[in-house]
Amino acid sequence: MSDSEPTRSKDFIRTIIEEDLRSGKNDGRVVSRFPPEPNGYLHIGHAKSICLNFGVALEYGGSCHLRFDDTNPVKEDVEFVESIKEDVRWLGFDWGDNEFYASDYFERLHDYAVQLIRDGNAYVDSLSAEEIREYRGTLTEPGRDSPYRDRSVEENLDLFARMRAGEFADGEHVLRAKIDMASGNINMRDPTIYRIRKTAHHRTGDTWCIYPMYDFTHCLSDAEEKITHSLCTLEFEDHRPLYDWVLDELSTPCHPQQIEFARLNLSYTVLSKRKLLRLVEEKWVDGWDDPRMPTIAGFRRRGYPPEAIRNFCDRIGVAKRDSLVDVAMLEHAAREHLNAVASRYMAVLDPIKVVIENYPEGLVEEMDAVNNPEDESAGTRKVPFSRELYVERDDFREDPPRKFFRLSPGREVRLRYGYFVTCTDVVKDENGEVTEIRCTYDPETRGGDSPDGRKVKSTLHWVSAEHGVGAEVRLYDRLFKDEDPSKAADFDEALNPDSLKVVSAVVEPELAKVEPGTTVQFERQGYFCPASKDCKPDKLVFNRAVTLRDSWARIAKKG
Ligand code: ATP
Ligand code: MG
Repeated sequence: MSDSEPTRSKDFIRTIIEEDLRSGKNDGRVVSRFPPEPNGYLHIGHAKSICLNFGVALEYGGSCHLRFDDTNPVKEDVEFVESIKEDVRWLGFDWGDNEFYASDYFERLHDYAVQLIRDGNAYVDSLSAEEIREYRGTLTEPGRDSPYRDRSVEENLDLFARMRAGEFADGEHVLRAKIDMASGNINMRDPTIYRIRKTAHHRTGDTWCIYPMYDFTHCLSDAEEKITHSLCTLEFEDHRPLYDWVLDELSTPCHPQQIEFARLNLSYTVLSKRKLLRLVEEKWVDGWDDPRMPTIAGFRRRGYPPEAIRNFCDRIGVAKRDSLVDVAMLEHAAREHLNAVASRYMAVLDPIKVVIENYPEGLVEEMDAVNNPEDESAGTRKVPFSRELYVERDDFREDPPRKFFRLSPGREVRLRYGYFVTCTDVVKDENGEVTEIRCTYDPETRGGDSPDGRKVKSTLHWVSAEHGVGAEVRLYDRLFKDEDPSKAADFDEALNPDSLKVVSAVVEPELAKVEPGTTVQFERQGYFCPASKDCKPDKLVFNRAVTLRDSWARIAKKG
């Protein structure tokens, strides 16, 4: 599968849209919308919905609206509105002028509610929330009519006007659609469509003290915007009869079609906004954009490129049945894209010094290094080589086990783009720990090639001690150790205690020039990016996006 052309067989939603286009429904228009509630940051599940909604608009020459579903004044915030816009843009999508807010429709929605009352299709109920629940019945028992159900149109109009005027306290009355308390579908048992909330709204201020409910707002917002296909997740399937009822009873600009698809569930990940909010508020993580969070902002800070997320969303596809997607598939998408585009550098994460005894003191050679073997146009760079270098502590063993082919006494290895070196001795501290490796080099092997065809079994990365730059490197790993963290009783139980390890590394000098927002490969280690908030020219800090070990590629190969 090539990176630039993700394969996608046509899903059931695209099939429906194409049929509609063929039959001339909606005058050949395709208008979708992405309707986030601004009560949290967007996560990878939202990315699936974004890629779907903006994707079909692009593919069928239509448009996709960004609509903030901001009907709950209690939980919403402008911080979230701004972050949502930034994240959708970063993912690569453009809503043009089509930025809408459900709150902009409050006056229209109010008028629609009044129309329902006039038509005898809605009534003011004065039962308490508790009583309404009790009257609603259960899955097996029908509900009972409220004693207020038969109020006259005049009384309902008067009460609703006084609700709006602020004459009543929260919860004293609600407005309910008058449908069928015996319906097999609980959503149709006279659902509440307006409630009193004496709370200021982040956009409408104190204008309103009654707020419309989601089910009433959503279908009418869709209709006002002349949406053609209203794509939502499966939990709204049972709400579709209500969506259609409202639009059938009222005279609206059009009647969009609601189509449900399965939400994304990812292994080792929680995607419930309530839980993500808890992770932030209880400080299990460092904010919504902590690189371990499954939020778009978290992935960005961690160094995932937007293409990786889009490719992942393409590949998981859209289906009608819930499933659990292996997070390894997302990590694979990141590696695959980064492998193609990321420049390679050398960085030693756990340094131990190597002294090349026969290398001239004071000599510095500028070695040519290939920036990206996958992309010739990325060119080459110079890496300084000198008598004292750092290599990874883990690349040396004094007593190598079988099959350990890296550096050990008497063993010759290649230093990438450098020379062949052979370990001759070690220096130890008073505890017997190796503190320095002594080597000799073969001057005939410059660039890492042996003129006599002599083979070595391993190639190590390295950094010149004199030229290398110190860097803090944050080794991020999965936030949860449980495959299904939602099953665990609490976070302490399911969180991975090793989700962040911080090390002091030495990196090649060119890495100081990497721009924020650019993810690079540290050879043999993984993909890393400058930590956007903390990396400074005089203090380098890198975040690990993902390691190189690709468990998904292995699974895919076996399958
Ligand atoms: P909550 O977690 O509080 O139920 P939500 O995840 O539904 O909220 P919204 O802001 O209402 O959050 O979501 C905006 C859109 O993104 C909705 O159309 C919703 O169906 C879709 N969406 C949310 N989560 C997922 C998911 N995991 N997979 C696919 N789409 C999702
Ligand atoms: Mg929602």
